Amino acid sequence: MAETAFVSCGGTGAPQGRRREVVVGGKRVKTVDVHAHCAVPAAMALMGRKVEAEALLQSSMPARIQAMDAQGIDVEALSINPYWYGADRDIAQKLIQIQNEALAEICGAAPDRFVAFASVALQHPDLAAEQLEQGVKRYGLRGAGLGGSVEGRELSDPAFHPFWAKAEQLGVLVFIHPQGTAELEKTGRLAGNGLLTNTIGNPLETTIALSHLIFEGTLDRFPGLKICAAHGGGYLPSYAARSDAVQTTFPQRMKGTLAKRPTEYLRQLYFDSIVFTPEALRHLAVEAGPAQIVMGTDYPFPWTSTSVDHILGTPGLSDADRIAMLGGTAQTLLKIP
Ligand SMILES: [Zn+2]
Repeated sequence: MAETAFVSCGGTGAPQGRRREVVVGGKRVKTVDVHAHCAVPAAMALMGRKVEAEALLQSSMPARIQAMDAQGIDVEALSINPYWYGADRDIAQKLIQIQNEALAEICGAAPDRFVAFASVALQHPDLAAEQLEQGVKRYGLRGAGLGGSVEGRELSDPAFHPFWAKAEQLGVLVFIHPQGTAELEKTGRLAGNGLLTNTIGNPLETTIALSHLIFEGTLDRFPGLKICAAHGGGYLPSYAARSDAVQTTFPQRMKGTLAKRPTEYLRQLYFDSIVFTPEALRHLAVEAGPAQIVMGTDYPFPWTSTSVDHILGTPGLSDADRIAMLGGTAQTLLKIP
């Protein structure tokens, strides 16, 4: 019942320094944020890169925990946006090793507040598969974080099958986070006001990545894959039916057959909740199913600080839906006790 959720959640934020506890239907819910960024400077240095925001650093963990407490986030699943897809094998090996060890250390320092996605060098697919396995088995990481493409190659490229096979075999969640559409940036079409490289470039990249995973049959080939797409899956769930319509409008442009209608794949993918309005979240829940939505914040980038209230305040969801979105589904996917 929506009403129970409203009255029992205790307002829109915790008083200064207090940890907000989220309650739905009289039950304390463990909330999980699947979309939280961090950075490891020692690894970035190998690529001559500098950290873009201090809040990404391990040294800023107290401030991060304070923000989590205020927003009612119990656990963050940390990930690192790939910047190493151009690295050769040796550098990539070293960089990922440093990074995954650092992630394990961060999580180890506050195991009740943090889990993390392993970083992997997807440009070397066999190495990426090893890094994922090691990340999960040796470092206790809970899945992998990927970009939306790899130096111009689509995630559906058969070259990446060894990685997908490993992710499926391990049964871990793969979080796909876009990094703009570099190919469009070159043309200048995303220049000008509005940070379009990010504002629309990021969701567009996710839309393209997911569409290829569906249409190229990657999701048929690896039906056990657990994939979570950032920013509500970009534009794909908003205009999903067009992906079904093409099958009948231009059947000659469909090579081979898919196991099901394109829109049905949305019901096996996971999506974070960063879609800003109750109407957008309602629509995503209709297209994908409420059990496929997991909460995201994009911390420390201030796109939203009200992810909990967004889920609590979206009309038409049941208590069970809200509990699943706030943390229940992510708890299962990320093996959070
Ligand atoms: Zn993000």
